[in-house]
Amino acid sequence: MRPDSLNPLFTEITKLPGIGPRLGKLFESLAGPRVVDLCWHLPSGIIDRRYAPKLAVAQPGRVATLTLTVGEHQAPPTRRQPYRIYCQDDTGEIELVFFHAKPDYLTRILPPGAQRLVSGKVEVFAGGLQMTHPDRIGTEANRDEIERVEPVYPLTAGLSHNVVVKAAAAAVALAPELPEWLDGPYLAKQGWPAWATALRAAHAPMDEGDLAPENPARGRLAFDELLANQLALMLVRRHQAKRQGRSQRGDGQLRRAVRAALPFSLTGAQEQAVAEITEDMASDSRMLRLLQGDVGSGKTVVALMAMLAAVEAGGQAALMAPTEILVQQHAKTITPLLEPIGLSMEVLTGRDKGAARAEKLARLQSGESALALGTHALFQKDVAFRDLSLAVIDEQHRFGVHQRLDLTAKGRAADVLVMTATPIPRTLMLTAYGDMETSRLREKPPGRQPVDTRALPLARLPDVVAAVGRSLEQGHKVFWVCPLVAESEVVDLAAAEERARELEAQFGAKVGLIHGRMKGPDKDQIMARFATGDVDLLVSTTVVEVGVDVPLARVMVIEHAERFGLAQLHQLRGRIGRGRDPATCLLLYQPPLGETARARLEVMRRSDDGFEIAEEDLKLRGAGELLGTRQSGLPQFRLADLAIHGELLAAARDDARLIMERDPDLKDARGAALRVLLYLFERDAAVKFLSSG
Ligand code: ADP
Ligand code: MG
Repeated sequence: MRPDSLNPLFTEITKLPGIGPRLGKLFESLAGPRVVDLCWHLPSGIIDRRYAPKLAVAQPGRVATLTLTVGEHQAPPTRRQPYRIYCQDDTGEIELVFFHAKPDYLTRILPPGAQRLVSGKVEVFAGGLQMTHPDRIGTEANRDEIERVEPVYPLTAGLSHNVVVKAAAAAVALAPELPEWLDGPYLAKQGWPAWATALRAAHAPMDEGDLAPENPARGRLAFDELLANQLALMLVRRHQAKRQGRSQRGDGQLRRAVRAALPFSLTGAQEQAVAEITEDMASDSRMLRLLQGDVGSGKTVVALMAMLAAVEAGGQAALMAPTEILVQQHAKTITPLLEPIGLSMEVLTGRDKGAARAEKLARLQSGESALALGTHALFQKDVAFRDLSLAVIDEQHRFGVHQRLDLTAKGRAADVLVMTATPIPRTLMLTAYGDMETSRLREKPPGRQPVDTRALPLARLPDVVAAVGRSLEQGHKVFWVCPLVAESEVVDLAAAEERARELEAQFGAKVGLIHGRMKGPDKDQIMARFATGDVDLLVSTTVVEVGVDVPLARVMVIEHAERFGLAQLHQLRGRIGRGRDPATCLLLYQPPLGETARARLEVMRRSDDGFEIAEEDLKLRGAGELLGTRQSGLPQFRLADLAIHGELLAAARDDARLIMERDPDLKDARGAALRVLLYLFERDAAVKFLSSG
């Protein structure tokens, strides 16, 4: 249960004064629905209202806090003209200007004859000083609130600066003092304040330097978030490891037979990955290992070796992929390899229905079939195994962690191998998987040529079309990827349809279209026609990302390449150049390119190494945007910026490790404070794994 001390932070934002349901909705989209979300919404700038000159020396263009005597109000003859209030001090005069003014209100806050503090930007108009819509108006009694450095927050349409400043101040005021969860000496060494002090300071920047991520207040908050992340991962991991594993030690017979039938020999990287995996499987703790490798690096064969080891040891193995296309592709690779050893594999997708499906399930349940391959259809309740001892999950970041657990729950202490083609930088790996063991396939199977990658402005489209035409004449297949326009499939689809029509008109009836809204069978049909049939040019939205092998594909055109993430571009590009022939990737961009966009395309041109590309992308864009949207499944940080706080992440990991060694159940005083930290960052699930008391 969340400690009571945190309750004020976890109340709804609409409980703050002045925030009703309408504003609540806006705040929810800006920061989140609760007070704590607003606490994490840190200022992005400052307004310095400490400049308080006399009018005679007030500099136009600057924000100033003026002490004025209010003079005559001049209501406009028509609503279109502004309402003016003439004010003065003992050195000069200024006009306050209001559009769409409410006279009653203005008379109340600026009564003629009274002295008032007025803060806003000083301007010169027609030779005199004026201030349009002052930001702050008050009396001498409010001087401390007004004449200060004010935070500026990121806004959303409908929410004004003033409203957000007020709400954030109210939210921060609710933050309680919390017990210190950081190690004393480390805290002292960093020179960081206590948590509540840090939060207040982060919301009260005094100069630009206070906005920097390395500032002590922000650094501390980021570290807290990272420590909560690392500690939670370790708690979950320990919980999983505690569940007794099983030693799977096959006699190698099936593996030898399949190797003998392979038309190639494994690369050094593949051999090493297989060795690491089978060693994990042989040990009696549960395996949880990540196999990372670019598209085409040969992960499937590695997975197959692991699956065969499980079968040799008397168990069953399941391989799960996120899309039907990928399932079919794995099936195509694996099925022929199983023939010589007389094993069969059940392929299960959402399309399986009725009697045929029932028969497949029966064979898995009885153990007659030792291997299963499928989409999330493998999770369905009625799918049961006789003895599932290895679960392999491809492209894991598309599944939730829950689904990963769902599949392993179908087995008894099943080992888990997660495969990903997303070249996740080391720092992000740590936040998503903690210290999960990793095997990397950095070496590609022999004979691959790097794809010749060029960046061209969209204005060169006619040249590109002509080059594509020549390539088609030579019998090559061409991918044409259409842009991410609006994160909206409907809009993306319209663009792709339009492009397909144009290209078809140009080249005749050899153009196919594939997109995310198509049904599985339709996608497979068009992919098959592209891979081996009559379709020579395939226009697609980004569905080819985790798609298919088309060895004849020699050219890929990517429109508006500047809108894609680098990891995504790299994965797209991985679809070509898989044969022995040279391949070309044309990245079309819309000028003018910003510096970052230019640098990113340059990385694509220069490097063919997914890991290098991912590290560069992290540096150039930051973690938030790296893998595109939230769908990446990687944790989103509110306070930490991994591109900047990478060292803090390493420190947080080390700290979490030490905590797990010294006080794994978080029982001592620091442990109790760390539980509060976990709740503060909503890692409630991890706290559940602690033995209570
Ligand atoms: P990934 O799943 O990592 O994208 P795959 O496992 O689908 O890659 O392998 C891509 C292609 O490379 C397949 O056609 C596969 O048969 C082939 N391949 C895998 N390993 C080797 C190797 N050691 N030598 C030659 N070709 C290989
Ligand atoms: Mg694969």
